[in-house]
This record gives sequence, structure tokens and C-alpha cells, in this order.
Amino acid sequence: MSNNVTHYINGKSWSGTAARSGEVFNPATGEVSSHVDFATVEVIDEAVKAASLAAIEWQKTSLTKRVQTIFAFREILNTRKEELAAVITAEHGKVLSDALGEVTRGLEVVEFACGIPHLLKGGYSEGVSNGIDVYSIRQPLGVVGIISPFNFPAMVPMWFFPVAIAAGNAVILKPSEKDPSAANLIAQMWEQAGLPAGVFNVVHGDKVAVDAMLEHPGIKSISFVGSTPIARYIYETGTKNGKRVQALGGAKNHMLVLPDADLELAADAAINAGFGSAGERCMAISVLVAVEPIADALIEKIKTRMANLSTGDGTKGSDMGPLVTRVHRDKVAGYVEAGVKEGAKLVVDGRNPTVNGASNGFWLGPTLFDEVKPNMSIYADEIFGPVLSVVRVNSYDEGVKLINDHPYGNGTAIFTNDGGAARQFQNEIQVGMIGINVPIPVPAAYYSFGGWKSSLFGDTHAHGTEGVHFFTRGKVVTSRWLDPSHGGINLGFPQN
Ligand code: NAD
Repeated sequence: MSNNVTHYINGKSWSGTAARSGEVFNPATGEVSSHVDFATVEVIDEAVKAASLAAIEWQKTSLTKRVQTIFAFREILNTRKEELAAVITAEHGKVLSDALGEVTRGLEVVEFACGIPHLLKGGYSEGVSNGIDVYSIRQPLGVVGIISPFNFPAMVPMWFFPVAIAAGNAVILKPSEKDPSAANLIAQMWEQAGLPAGVFNVVHGDKVAVDAMLEHPGIKSISFVGSTPIARYIYETGTKNGKRVQALGGAKNHMLVLPDADLELAADAAINAGFGSAGERCMAISVLVAVEPIADALIEKIKTRMANLSTGDGTKGSDMGPLVTRVHRDKVAGYVEAGVKEGAKLVVDGRNPTVNGASNGFWLGPTLFDEVKPNMSIYADEIFGPVLSVVRVNSYDEGVKLINDHPYGNGTAIFTNDGGAARQFQNEIQVGMIGINVPIPVPAAYYSFGGWKSSLFGDTHAHGTEGVHFFTRGKVVTSRWLDPSHGGINLGFPQN
């Protein structure tokens, strides 16, 4: 019999009986490990009611006390990070070290949120007119919703909720139904940290739960991360319902390698960024743009490294784990077949890998294509698996045009030893996050994370000061305390 994962509302596990639920797999064995309850409109309403009440009190809680609670959460998360990483690996499949890595990146946002008193400071202008002072304050929104994808079940929610909670909001998190347990463990940690019941809630489910969140007037904002078609839908529906929305979408990240680059460094980077987490990262490199004449040499180096990569159960020390579900594994394998049919050259075929793991796991080994052209589906679409495509170009300008013409604009990287070329690249490339000799340029927590074009809908990126801005509303106060010299009626604006 498998476990049951249910909602966490108002400081406790939901005690109802769900009419619908979903299967959760261990991707390394292919077995169903648990069932997750799917929330109805009524369950979402229950969560919003609890969060709304909690938000009123939490907003009134002093900044000092709020920071102490966030700090306590930070300590608990740090102590229990291996436990959280194990839960992630069991449901997502990524190797343990990578799961621990995502928790660490999330922790950095929690640490950033501990600085909220400084981040919420407003401005004060004394004497803007006679006896008049003007100052600004920022206040929380109330109840905020977070809807997250399967690929980072801990880190992506942590891009948002530490800042949201620190700023005085109450949170309703709907994680991916594919790997729901990390969110519940995080809820337990908040409870342990002394966060009042109702400030952090977890609801599980699918489109029904998402639509109920988008339509509920009690939820003031939506922070979404997932594929582009759904991100677009979330942005359009959420804003139509009067909500503030930031919706981060899919990606197709290019790595441009100039002829003067250190090819050993570039080959290592292509492997790490192409096949880490089995390519299921929104910042994964999926296209390597080689500026001739280096393509043959670079591909040889990549091939040699690929031969040494091990695929297997994430708990057993492999380099790369399985894909998240069989459906997703088959979809990615379908792209490999499509690439062959479309005329790309299959250099390494990962469809029948040797694995250290159960035969029913959702395995797909590292795959490499050469001579990929922009009109092929393996170039145009986000594959979200361990498939790296090489596109050969003849100049820097051709490479930049290729990247700028792609509808996605999440991350990109340039590999070169020419500072001037790197500087020109950062200036003219139409992408939100740029690496210079760094393949996965995920910004530090005090900067903001987000892409351009079809990789983000809305105007605010995650965490950093943009995150603080998203989870607060500004007020400006114009104030006068009367003194004996105040002078009579004046229907115009003050002139001095
Ligand atoms: P997904 O779009 O399938 O799901 C994301 C969330 O939306 C989940 O919580 C899911 O339950 C919900 N959802 C799914 N279908 C829905 C529908 N029809 N209506 C309403 N809600 C729906 O994404 P995924 O497969 O879980 O995650 C992978 C995707 O996320 C990739 O495209 C990846 O690039 C993207 N991603 C982007 C970033 C970024 O920062 N831009 C970060 C991580 C992942």
C-alpha cells in the first residue's frame, strides 16, 4: 500500500477525503510510491480563509519577530537539508548531490529574506513644502499564491515564499503534483520554526486547483513557474481576475563558443549544463552554438566526456538520474527520433543506456546531436531532457542572431577569452540571464531571477529587490503637523 500526500492548511494536515488524487512515482524504480490528493474549489477556499485570517495578524507582527521566525526556519532547513534532499530524489529522480544543491540555493533566498527590515525601508523627504513631509512605506499584499513546477520542488517555491512571508504575507503553495512531498516537509519546518498557523499553506492538485486559485478573489498575487503555454495562460487569467502575476515560463538556453575559447573548459561546461539533473533544468544548456572552425574539436571533447557519464539511481552515486515520469521520458525519446528523421546527425544515442538501477526506471542516457538546423523541432522546442544539440555557425554575429531570433530568452552563455566580445554579447543579447564562461548563470539571491520574451510573462523577476517589490505595495504619505504659522485657505497646489 502506498502513502498518501495531502494538503497542509492552517497548521495541520487536511483531514477530509479527496474525490480525486494522482499517482506519484519513484522514477528510479518506476513504482508508484504514493498518491497525492487533488484540491477542489472548496479546499482552495478553505485554505484562502485560513490564510486571510493569518495574514491580518502576521502583517501586524513586528519586523523583529518576523525575522526571528525566518531565521529559525533557516536554521531548521539547514539542519534538515539532507532529509529534504532525500525526499526530492525519491520523487524527482535527480541525484542526491544535485537535490542538496537545490536546497542550498533555496537557503540563500531564506538568508536574503532575513534582511527584510533593510529591504522594506522607505524614503523620507523633510520639508517638501512649508511644514510638509513626504515618506513612503511598503505593505504586504495579503494572501499570495505560488504554483511551482516539478523540476525544483524545493528551490523554486523558495524563490518566492521566504520573501513573501518576510514581507508580511500569508502563502498558499501549490507544488507540482509529480513531486509533492517536499512542500509538506517544508511546511513541517515552518511549524517547527514557530510560524503561526495559516501563514504557510500547501494545497495539492492539478488544473482544477490552479484555476480555483486564479479565480479566488482572496488571493492577491500569483507567482508561477512552469512551461510557457501554461505560464501564458496563468498570466492572462490571473491578471484578468485582478491579480498581480509573475509567470516564469520555459527555456531553450544557448551556449555560444567562440574560436578563442578554452575548449576544455567549454566541453566541461557543456556536459555539466547539458546533462546535470538529466537536462530537466530551466537553465540547462540545450543548444551549443559552435563558431567554426572549432566544432569538430569541441564535439570530440564532449563525446569523450559523455562516455564517462554514469546514469542510474540518484541514491547510488550516479552522475545522472532518471527522468521524472515515463510519459516525460517517452516524450524526450520521441524528440530524439524526430531529430534523426529531420536530418540531424545523432552522435551519441542515449535511448538504451546502461544503468545502475531498476529496469523499470524512467531512463534516458545523455544524447548528442550535431548539424542541427533552426527549422528542426529539436532546435525550436524545449525538450527538457538530456539532449544537447550542436548548431554550427560561421561567425559571432550569426550566433547572436540565432539566439536573438529564438522565442525563449531565459539564460545564455558565451565562452571566450576576449573581454570585448563578452562585453558586446552582454549588451546585445536578448536574454534575461547571461553567463560569461559560466554555463548556468543563476543569479545570487540578492539579484533577481527571470528571463525575457516567452520565458517570462509579467514585469517582475523572482527574489532580490524585484521579489520584495512584487510581494509589497507602495504607499506614499504626505504629512503636515500644524504649527502656529499655518496660513489660511489656498485652493492651488503649494508653490513653495
Ligand atoms: P508545467 O507547466 O507542466 O506545470 C507547472 C505547474 O502548472 C504545476 O504546478 C502544474 O500542476 C500546473 N499545471 C500543469 N498543467 C496545467 C494546466 N493545464 N492548467 C493549469 N495549471 C497547470 O511545468 P512542469 O513540467 O512541471 O515543469 C517544467 C517546465 O517548467 C519547463 O518548461 C521549464 O522550463 C519550466 N521552468 C521554468 C523556470 C524558469 O525560471 N523560467 C524554472 C523551472 C522550470
